[in-house]
Amino acid sequence: MTATTTQTTTIDATDPEPAKPGAGATAAGLDTRIFEERESQVRSYSRSWPTVFSRAKGPRVFAEDGTAYLDFFAGAGALNYGHNNAEIIKPLIEYLTGDGIMHSLDMYTTAKRDFLSSFTKLVLEPRGMDYKVMFPGPTGTNAVEAALKLARKITGRQHVLSFTNAFHGMTLGSLSVTGNSMKRMGAGIPLTNTSKIPYDDYFSGSVDDFLWLERVLADSGSGVDKPAAIIVETVQGEGGLNAARAEWLRALSELCREHDILLIVDDVQAGCGRTGTFFSFEEAGIVPDIVCLSKSLSGSGQPLAVTLLRPELDEWSPGEHNGTFRGNNPAFVTGRAALDLYWGDDAFAASVRERSAELHAGLGRIAEAHGGTLRGRGLLCGIAFPDDATAGAVSRAAFERGLLVETSGPESEVLKTMPPLTITPAELAEGIDIIEQSAQHVLGN
Ligand code: PMP
Repeated sequence: MTATTTQTTTIDATDPEPAKPGAGATAAGLDTRIFEERESQVRSYSRSWPTVFSRAKGPRVFAEDGTAYLDFFAGAGALNYGHNNAEIIKPLIEYLTGDGIMHSLDMYTTAKRDFLSSFTKLVLEPRGMDYKVMFPGPTGTNAVEAALKLARKITGRQHVLSFTNAFHGMTLGSLSVTGNSMKRMGAGIPLTNTSKIPYDDYFSGSVDDFLWLERVLADSGSGVDKPAAIIVETVQGEGGLNAARAEWLRALSELCREHDILLIVDDVQAGCGRTGTFFSFEEAGIVPDIVCLSKSLSGSGQPLAVTLLRPELDEWSPGEHNGTFRGNNPAFVTGRAALDLYWGDDAFAASVRERSAELHAGLGRIAEAHGGTLRGRGLLCGIAFPDDATAGAVSRAAFERGLLVETSGPESEVLKTMPPLTITPAELAEGIDIIEQSAQHVLGN
């Protein structure tokens, strides 16, 4: 997402988006001096949404001055079940007042047992999956780093392939498989032992997607080292909401199997129900070797991540990959509550699919009216506008109308919606209306 000025008064599609220092107050007069004076310039979302948030409930966030914002951002996918979902927070409050274990590295705890039991019973077993669960550090990039390290260890190969416009996180290994050139530059050192290959439809259907890869892997004279793994997002959340087709994912999975390459699905953003099934790859019917999950796994915005691996791949030596904050117990409590609440049957997933159809219809209508294109899958979808500046301007106009909605894509050219999965049809329609008004305001038709 791009940064905006602290006070946007006029909005049009050509607005530049410089990150100007603020004047110490928001438009509503809220005090922002400490942030501007003390916090690093690296902050970015605060520039896009120049207010001070203090409370949140369900699909709404409230600023200190009481302004309510409908949240079509949902913590970048970390708040799939809404803010402070009462049934998820209640067991956490009981856990805290009952002196439950707060920190335990990877020791056995009651909270971890309960979480693993629900994850096994409600997620893995019904899907016929037999993954070992590894707890890396609690963020998405930690799950990816563990996956890359394991793939290299298992295969004894160094190279990893990832896709154009991929996003896998900000630590060096994850950055090495990420596409965005600005983020890659931030590494300050060469990002090696990885290469990018074209994501689904990169050549707009004019070139067979796996033509090059199939040829070079089959040709012992190609000079291309066989990779340890290929890492993929089924929907590129940060990279512009490109969604891979199910048949493309199946072809990728098949190619990996044929050449003994591990397939890693990074489901950090698209997983945990976002696309209408718990894992985003279920629709394609593939079973990756390694899966990365984080964001909404805790159900509450608490940090938690897992790297799932086929049991045969569990060749770790004890402690070979560790970290102080693996296995966040409060997150286990809320994560288990979310699984028990929403994943015992298909009712919740079915409601996500219904909301997705409504959102796609609404955004599709707006896209059509303004020459844009509908992108994405499930409740991870948006509008790619023909002009790079439009999505940012629509996002700013939406903020002024009480909606949080961000942008994505290499040029921030895509308006990206990610409402909570628990949103009601009326709340969803309210957000779509604001986007429609904002697009009309910016584009004037
Ligand atoms: N993978 C994907 C697909 C993501 O979308 C993100 C975060 N946007 C990450 C990894 C990194 O997660 P985190 O920011 O928690 O490190």
